[in-house]
Amino acid sequence: MIPVRDDLRALEGYHSAQVDVRVRLNTNESPTPPPDAFRDAVAAEVSRVDWHRYPDRAATALREAIAESHGVDAAQVFVANGSNEVLQTVLLAYAGPGRVVATFEPTYQMHAQIARVTGATVVEGERADDFTLDPAEVERVLAEHQPHVVFLTSPNNPTGLVEPADRVQQMLDLAPGLVVVDEAYAQFADWTALDLIDEATPLVVTRTFSKTWSMAGARLGYLIGPTWLVAELEKVVLPYHLDAVKQIAGRLALRYVEDMDDRVAQIVAERTRVSAELAVLGLTVIPSGANFVLFRVDGRDGHDIWQGLVDRSVLIRDCSGWPRLANCLRVTIGTPDENTEFLSALTEVLGVIAIDDQTDFPTEENGADQ
Ligand code: PMP
Repeated sequence: MIPVRDDLRALEGYHSAQVDVRVRLNTNESPTPPPDAFRDAVAAEVSRVDWHRYPDRAATALREAIAESHGVDAAQVFVANGSNEVLQTVLLAYAGPGRVVATFEPTYQMHAQIARVTGATVVEGERADDFTLDPAEVERVLAEHQPHVVFLTSPNNPTGLVEPADRVQQMLDLAPGLVVVDEAYAQFADWTALDLIDEATPLVVTRTFSKTWSMAGARLGYLIGPTWLVAELEKVVLPYHLDAVKQIAGRLALRYVEDMDDRVAQIVAERTRVSAELAVLGLTVIPSGANFVLFRVDGRDGHDIWQGLVDRSVLIRDCSGWPRLANCLRVTIGTPDENTEFLSALTEVLGVIAIDDQTDFPTEENGADQ
């Protein structure tokens, strides 16, 4: 074995259990596929692909279609293999050795992870106990560390909370560098930072086809930002990084907006039902604007609950061992049947795994929120 870069030795990488189960609600995918008409249209166009030629390097048609869907210019759109690769390209261009990247934890782990891989220093701001972000903490982190890149995820993963618009505005007012708003789940929420984008503002908004568009299998994401920034990203990304098939799939997907809106409406309705049922079970539920719900099993061991669900062939995300997320679990909203199966398995598990310490519950004496 030869030694890896010193600064990579401590990194753990990305972990999410891939277990063979009947009900899979752990990676925030869409529970249903795109419409058959989309699949047929993709198959027809793919049959005409020039397999011996490189794809359109600028992904012109796809970028134009995305630009049109947001009412922006194609030169403001950068596309890559999943929004993770979009984020990586941004960080390769604007982070790197000697530069500082700020996150507000807990949030999407890959922001800090990718930043560290580029060699940047990561500073972690803290959210309050209810996972909201205090403006004073934003001010402190930006003033103390002067980050070259600052991240905000709205709705946030894994908490599901939607950031208020004035938090983004505050960052734009105070940040000395680039503000990245990760909107992987924006269609499930009621506002977007897209309207704040213009040539004079160092702001990018990232989006993905993996969730609302039911296309996690395709690995496609993009950002909208100033044209000068997109031009820098084009210098960094590998030539022909986006294959011809993906360019076709992304462009055609955008023709099925109504189907996407219907899926989103169904998931939002189910999110309301699942959140209410979790509260009825006596669990602490974090209000979600995404396609998943974070909840806490106070007084019980979160990992045991997760295992109890796996034993009943239901897989959700075990966040209970993550920093700041003791006893927290995250469930992706599935089909109505999957959600019902999850809720009844959870009810069963909660009946089996008794509360081990009543004093863990907040009481009037130890600061319960009345
Ligand atoms: N951002 C957030 C907040 C996410 O939760 C995810 C997926 N878990 C991504 C980005 C990455 O999505 P993808 O690479 O599939 O586009």
